[in-house]
Amino acid sequence: MKISVVGYPRIGVERELKFACEAYFKHDISLQELEEKAREIRAYNWCLQKNKGVDIIPSNDFSYYDGVLDNAFLLNVIPERYQKLNLSPLDTYFAVARGYQGEKGDVKALPMKKWFNTNYHYIVPEIDDNTQIKLVGEKPFKLYTEAKELGIETKPVILGAYTFLKLAKYKGSKKARDLAEDIIKAYTDILEKFSSLKVGWIQFDEPALVLDMDREDIALFEKLYKNILTQNKGVKVLLQTYFGDVRDCMDVLRTLPFDGIGMDFIEGKKSLPLIKEKPFPKEKVLFAGIINGKNIWRNDYKKSLDILKELKENVQNIVVSTSCSLLHLPCSLKSEGKLDEEYKKHFAFAEEKLDELSELKNILSLETPEISAEYINNQNLHKQKRKGENEEVQKRVKALKKEDLIRKPCFEEREKIQKDNFKLPLLPTTTIGSFPQTKDVKQARTALRKGEMNRYKYEDIIKNKIASCIKEQEDMGFDVLVHGEFERNDMVEYFGSCLSGFLFTEKAWVQSYGTRCVKPPIIWGDVSREKPMTVVWSAYAKSLTNKPLKGMLTGAVTILNWSFPREDISLKESTLQIALAIGEEVLDLEKAGINIIQVDEAALREKLPLRKADWQKDYLDWAIPAFRLVHSKVKPTTQIHTHMCYSEFEDIITSIDDMDADVITFEASRSDLAILKTLKEKNFRTQVGPGVYDIHSPRVPSKAEIAEAIEKMLQYIPAEKLWVNPDCGLKTRGEKETTQSLKNLVKAAEEVRERLK
Ligand code: GLN
Ligand code: ZN
Repeated sequence: MKISVVGYPRIGVERELKFACEAYFKHDISLQELEEKAREIRAYNWCLQKNKGVDIIPSNDFSYYDGVLDNAFLLNVIPERYQKLNLSPLDTYFAVARGYQGEKGDVKALPMKKWFNTNYHYIVPEIDDNTQIKLVGEKPFKLYTEAKELGIETKPVILGAYTFLKLAKYKGSKKARDLAEDIIKAYTDILEKFSSLKVGWIQFDEPALVLDMDREDIALFEKLYKNILTQNKGVKVLLQTYFGDVRDCMDVLRTLPFDGIGMDFIEGKKSLPLIKEKPFPKEKVLFAGIINGKNIWRNDYKKSLDILKELKENVQNIVVSTSCSLLHLPCSLKSEGKLDEEYKKHFAFAEEKLDELSELKNILSLETPEISAEYINNQNLHKQKRKGENEEVQKRVKALKKEDLIRKPCFEEREKIQKDNFKLPLLPTTTIGSFPQTKDVKQARTALRKGEMNRYKYEDIIKNKIASCIKEQEDMGFDVLVHGEFERNDMVEYFGSCLSGFLFTEKAWVQSYGTRCVKPPIIWGDVSREKPMTVVWSAYAKSLTNKPLKGMLTGAVTILNWSFPREDISLKESTLQIALAIGEEVLDLEKAGINIIQVDEAALREKLPLRKADWQKDYLDWAIPAFRLVHSKVKPTTQIHTHMCYSEFEDIITSIDDMDADVITFEASRSDLAILKTLKEKNFRTQVGPGVYDIHSPRVPSKAEIAEAIEKMLQYIPAEKLWVNPDCGLKTRGEKETTQSLKNLVKAAEEVRERLK
């Protein structure tokens, strides 16, 4: 049985690509040097896969910034305003990705969006009525040849025509179907070019097939491929799907003349039943995704063999594959010098997933795989009881009752009690929590970590920062203050490192977008809180002011969603464990006199299933109660805030209200305040603080501008329910522009307040 890889991480084992790109942006290295680095990374990846025995190795999975953007450039989907800058091709590409401000003009970047249910973000291609889709790029062909010259035959990977059209944003009157003819021609040309290069397999990635598809979608998909494939001369076409199953279009996949179909047997709940329900065409190869491309745990060979056994009963030709691109994994466990072998043996990063593929290949060539050393070792590993269990925590989760998930009294009563209690003015002002993390703070943290600074000195520095942050907010006239979060490097890592049950890596970076990588913690065992995590800082801040101080925590769902989760227990159970721990912290803060507490659920939407039918049962039905568990035990006088990044929650608005927080703040200024209408229509009861200005640029908004934004909000939201705050992420801003902007914010709120009197 052959083995295949859907895609491989391109950032480099040491994040070389990130650093090379950043150096190029700063003009520290030349284009040639950047290209050289890129070539090195590609050669390394190809050779590695070849040496590990991968039969079908991807190419064109490399990208300087983003694969979707690459495809836009391949197809000539480059908005005019970027072309007009008259930059070199690569600089035009980077201008679209990052924006350009310089002597040749001033254009913003195209927006970014979450890539399906991952933490990767792609650049949204923009199509207007002048867009002329045609094959203009050369990258896939060049990279194929580059690998060939190294003696490696590869499978070029191209984003499929359907997914590309589905992901694009349409600015003019043209819609996806109006572009069908042109894109068919472009993809036909791609196949023809590859055919002249004598390529074996080519892979078209079509993850949009795992989303809900209506009749029109299916018709579009069918039309595209009927035409693209009929003119195909000899290249074998693999239609690759991932992140779910293809229940809506399986019939079409069976009938269209694809040579291979790639399906995900990890996340695709219905993949196996779909294979079994009708005969799989004899002439087609099934690329069975059974090695998880998204999580870092070792594969369970028994489970994989069981799936393969069932598949073999229904399919003649099978290639074993990863469930999706390995882009979503760190590169190699080899870089983890400090992590104990005891842990490491349970993990497989991208490189180790290749080992698993090749072990499976070996095992499958045997008559009785079950007696092979590889199989036995693997099974022993999975049978081993992992250290990290905590019976106490397990019992607490089991003992949870409905009442534990419900806060009393009801929202309306609390709202009254809190109004009397806090006596906040109309349109109270606050911030989302963090304040600029200046160099001194970061340097102190690095020094502490390296052992160059002792803890007392470090804590002194943080306390000084808190003191001046409090003073500044008082001077500006904020109503609800925050301590500034100076002690935190990252909102998940900080809590993970205070809780037991988490593991941290040194270099397990995963690309989040462009040159930005994240290093998610690993949830290793049962999670519990040994001691208070934030109380000292919040209590110290509180001691410096008579104004209400808002304590700041990260919610359980977000901690889970930004970590590598366990696979031996359910996401629900893991989340409830974390929720119990954060809930203890909430009560400790309350005890310390902090009676406004914000529980950030920045990433609440992140694991929302791709198919609407699964939203409630598979996610919201436990994620929302898990949030309530965190705050259900506080007094009615304690005000619970939550925060979500982005305001894209129109479709789950009732669930958001069900979180039963007293106040929710969210990022809104970039989305044209579109959410406000929905809030009004749905009679949203939670008090809201939509961000009144965009903090993502150093630009300082004027008082008038902010006042105008507030007035606009008041058209939809009753004044009694409206808070005034900026968007989230002040941590990433400089001090100067922050102070100026926040001053204007407070003054704007005062002005509108005056008018309302
Ligand atoms: N409290 C955090 C902050 O203000 C929230 C961060 C976020 O929303 N991602 O930085
Ligand atoms: Zn946010």
